[in-house]
Amino acid sequence: MRTAVAEVALLRPASKLSSVSKPSIRSLHLAELTQLLAAQGQPAYRAKQVTDWLYKKRVESFATMTDLPAAMREQLAADFSFVGPETVRVLGSKDTTRKFLFRLTDGNLIESVLIPASPALYGETSDRRTACLSTQVGCAYGCKFCASGLDGFTRNLEPSEIVDQVLAIERESGERIDNIVFMGMGEPLANLANLLGAIRIINAPWGLEIGARHITISTSGLAPQILKLAHEPTQFRLAISLHGATDAVRDQIMPVNRKYPLATLLDACDAYVAQKKRLMFEYILIAGVNDTDEQAHQLAGHALRLSAKVNLIPYNTVEGLEWSRPSRNGQETFLRIVREHGAVATLRREKGHDIAAACGQLRLQTKRSERQPV
Ligand code: SF4
Repeated sequence: MRTAVAEVALLRPASKLSSVSKPSIRSLHLAELTQLLAAQGQPAYRAKQVTDWLYKKRVESFATMTDLPAAMREQLAADFSFVGPETVRVLGSKDTTRKFLFRLTDGNLIESVLIPASPALYGETSDRRTACLSTQVGCAYGCKFCASGLDGFTRNLEPSEIVDQVLAIERESGERIDNIVFMGMGEPLANLANLLGAIRIINAPWGLEIGARHITISTSGLAPQILKLAHEPTQFRLAISLHGATDAVRDQIMPVNRKYPLATLLDACDAYVAQKKRLMFEYILIAGVNDTDEQAHQLAGHALRLSAKVNLIPYNTVEGLEWSRPSRNGQETFLRIVREHGAVATLRREKGHDIAAACGQLRLQTKRSERQPV
């Protein structure tokens, strides 16, 4: 006979359960939990009680859900796991950006970052605390400047493993997260079904209740998935990691551009914007690669075409890679040229340069040290 838990697992065909024997209780949405508990003879309000314990009171065991009948708590504990990621390392920088290295239940390592309030990620002041989350273990896209791709791709994260990062950061830092960016390890749109599953929990009134406008998804340029997102009803923000304004430059540093060249990517962005959705460009400034005046002129043209804001980010040095950031003067010149065209652009006074904050570096350092013979 098929159990109620197996029924719920079948509701989510795109998402394989992780290697632990029981699924995480945080793998279910309210409707799925309601359905599962109804199959066990529980009234409809019980599911909401459970999600309140999970996401409002943020408890870490079924035993603490004291307004549930004892037999129901036992059944939940028999069916579901409560295990979240184990914290391996926490690094804090002078400006209090903190980086977390988490070990998943199958032993894989992922990184998340907490970016403190004021000033915000893109220069304007903000009182928001931002979590930068990973969506995959490793990354298959191999951007030449990025540490996450250096060790290849291992697997997609489950929706619960994405949500767990927020809860784990809050537990470790004592701070409440109210802004999310999917700019950590992995290409978020290559794990689209699980990403959207996680966003539903993060955004839902019964979940973490973080407003859609405070959730930003980034992509290196997966045009077909951008077209799918154009028709998503949730109004989250989309950031295109452009990092080059011509095919010649993007081909050099982002292999994804050979599959979806700039014209294809910009056409997908047109379709996205046509649905009354806004997007922005992320542009990491790398000395001698994408920081010429010509790139600035071209970038401004793309931004004006799409009414996209441009976020310029000086490159974070990665151990083992040859790239570096332009001089401060060079960064300011690039910004000025983009602005002279009338495009809206900011230059990030980025945080975390001193804690290996570029995505993937901390994991790579830890994996390499764990591989060293003792
Ligand atoms: S920049 Fe993003 S898409 Fe490119 S290799 Fe790194 S994690 Fe993957």
